[in-house]
Amino acid sequence: MSELNLILLGPPGAGKGTQAERLRDDFGIPHISTGDILRGQVAEGTELGRQAKRYMDAGELVPDDVIIDMITERIAEGDARDGFLLDGFPRNRQQAEALNEALGSLDRRLTSVLLIDVPDDDVVRRLAGRRVCVKNPSHIYHVDFDPPKHEGVCDQDGARLIQRDDDKEDTIRRRLEVYHSQTEPLIGYYDDAGLLRRFDGRRSPDEVHAHIRATVATLRLEETL
Ligand code: ADP
Ligand code: ADP
Repeated sequence: MSELNLILLGPPGAGKGTQAERLRDDFGIPHISTGDILRGQVAEGTELGRQAKRYMDAGELVPDDVIIDMITERIAEGDARDGFLLDGFPRNRQQAEALNEALGSLDRRLTSVLLIDVPDDDVVRRLAGRRVCVKNPSHIYHVDFDPPKHEGVCDQDGARLIQRDDDKEDTIRRRLEVYHSQTEPLIGYYDDAGLLRRFDGRRSPDEVHAHIRATVATLRLEETL
């Protein structure tokens, strides 16, 4: 089978996690979120989690070496053999180059970079109303735009919904600055490489999903030809 090695790019709150969960089911490839992995380490109280937490709480990037090792190991695991959906990585040029190297050493390459575009004002509204499942952080809701059936309770496994520590107004503003200065330049980088596909993230989750799914299905078809 052809590989689907995909990156979901976009500002915080663009809907990367929301779409990754749907695409994971459509295409049977793992959703690899650096934010979820880091929050897992924080919850477990590991040394890595302890170090990462202060950067995350401040809305700053966790140092590259930690993140790059984490992802290099993760994409080499068995369940990512046929592809993966990277969410939250790469976030700067160094990480993008390290990913190319890691893929090259596995004799693989990127299939496509899916950019979900959303203006800053929407980001602030989305992050302020985001709620995630305490048991499985990939279950994502919004108090107004994508509410659970029962307030404060995850539809999928009945667990409590919580607000992330970094979804506070000040931290949101800082995360947006970091996105514009460090991550946004990757749009040009991947466009120059002929890998970028753009999606209008202001549309509803279902519409964004339909667009991305159709594009990825076409990409897969092209890979097999
Ligand atoms: P969001 O998509 O809402 O911005 P994430 O869950 O992707 O949030 O990331 C939360 C935090 O985890 C980031 O603000 C940053 O501190 C850290 N983080 C996640 N991915 C990376 C990465 N690739 N490089 C450095 N830090 C990261
Ligand atoms: P990211 O992973 O890019 O940080 P999320 O998938 O966590 O973004 O989505 C951020 C918030 O916005 C969540 O509360 C989610 O329910 C909501 N959301 C996601 N996609 C949309 C959309 N297309 N329209 C409105 N709200 C959305």
